[in-house]
Amino acid sequence: MSTGKYLTPIVGGLLSSLLVLGCGEETRTSPDETQTTPYSPPSEQLEEDPAALTPEPTDASSIFLAGSKGVGDPYFPNLGNGGYDVTRYLIQVTWTPSSLTLRGSTTIEAETTDNLSSFNVDLNPNMHVSSVTVNGDAADFTRESSEIIVKPVSNLPAGSEFQARFTYNGEPGMSLLENAPFDGGWFNQLSDTAEDFSCSSCGTYVYGEPSSSMAWHPVNDHPSDRAQFRIEMSVKMDPSQLWNNPDWEFVTNGFLIDKRKAENGMTTWIYETKYPRAPYLTTLAFGSFVEFEEANLGDVQLRHWAQSPPLPVDIFEVDFFGFDYRSMFEVFTDLFGPYPFDTYGYLVINEDLGLALETQTLSIFGYDAFQQPGVHVHELAHQWFGNHITLDNWSEIWLNEGFATYSQFLYEEAVNPDYDIYYAMRNVVSAFEDEEQLLNKVPPGDPGPEDLFSASVYFRGALTLHALRIEIGDEVFFASLRKYVEDFGGKNVTTSDFIETVEGVSGEDLEDFFNRWLYDLEMPTLPLASN
Ligand SMILES: [Zn+2]
Repeated sequence: MSTGKYLTPIVGGLLSSLLVLGCGEETRTSPDETQTTPYSPPSEQLEEDPAALTPEPTDASSIFLAGSKGVGDPYFPNLGNGGYDVTRYLIQVTWTPSSLTLRGSTTIEAETTDNLSSFNVDLNPNMHVSSVTVNGDAADFTRESSEIIVKPVSNLPAGSEFQARFTYNGEPGMSLLENAPFDGGWFNQLSDTAEDFSCSSCGTYVYGEPSSSMAWHPVNDHPSDRAQFRIEMSVKMDPSQLWNNPDWEFVTNGFLIDKRKAENGMTTWIYETKYPRAPYLTTLAFGSFVEFEEANLGDVQLRHWAQSPPLPVDIFEVDFFGFDYRSMFEVFTDLFGPYPFDTYGYLVINEDLGLALETQTLSIFGYDAFQQPGVHVHELAHQWFGNHITLDNWSEIWLNEGFATYSQFLYEEAVNPDYDIYYAMRNVVSAFEDEEQLLNKVPPGDPGPEDLFSASVYFRGALTLHALRIEIGDEVFFASLRKYVEDFGGKNVTTSDFIETVEGVSGEDLEDFFNRWLYDLEMPTLPLASN
């Protein structure tokens, strides 16, 4: 993600925007506070009582337990759910703009990883569930804030496939997540008054990191559970309502496989994914969106969407704002290996959102972020770092943001012969000199939930990679990056995976280096480059 704070990472306009950050509250939760009670050895008394030491032999396969209400994320313990892996979401919903309501069903196709007597899914409490079936049979369910606890009629043995279908309706809003640094969810663009029929850009869109999906469909809302999606969205077009114009489009990630108009005015769009994705990387939009297909870039089809009018149609022109996707794809393919998907595009909302988010194969941009070429580079780099390689848990956020931020500098270095990346990175350090605490109070390797998107995660993360490059040399550094993508593409990663990759390629022990750069409070001094 790029937030308004970091829209101009190439130092220049950087400092002034960073000075107003005010981030890094002292009250952030330390990971220690979220850890569970450590293991205690059995007491003396137990050792003296042989009967207590030899419990009835139990066949583990006969024990069925409730699935946990979170996957155990150190920052967001209730996010996601334990005991199963989702294979695919089949979402079939109808959106009614005049009442701002969504109704329909979501079927979760999943495989159990534990013996389950019940399991949870995440869904905001304002979405009312009317029925749940598991493998076709009606199931009991209860609600607890944004958790639905489902009790199927039969236990689900580990390793078995199951289908859970949820029928629901409600007014989608913001994703409910304790400690979230940022509100994500379902956004409606509305005119201020009902009489305002000039609402040419009123529409709906979804984004949010670390969570947005639970705002509108039942989900295992954690990046460690990636799945395929089939989204079937129907909207009843009503020509009497200007914000429900027959020309309006529904857009989401993946491929449009069908669009049909029924006689009753209902239009239905069906999109399917080809690649699994983390739920927070879903975006969607309904409104006055216009599509533009750029020429194929080798294996990649570029397909962009922009909310228009009043966005100028020229925004589809290559280089209108000085960004050039052809060169971005060339540089990143060269540095990181082949683009991991086969389509890409941007989705521009006609609002200054102060951010962009790397939603998979279709990055969503506020209009302000859209006008900054560096943000386009950043979100494209995330398709490798964040989307193809996905976080194991949210404490590892620097593996997304540090990499995407350094990629912006790598891109400049590749396309501009006069660009001196060593000078540029020293400038990043001096840009923070007056606000030194921004990099020195938040360790990027463990920033805490409130500082998930702090300057340190982005810039000290990028400086960590640059210092590593100086430490091990260009050849080994870039070989390590490629090996990391090759080995962990399509998987969930921790920082240890990256460190082990670099140590394997370099043959060096880098534990102390990474500890100082990622986990010490004080940022180390950037080493002198040999060039
Ligand atoms: Zn980012």
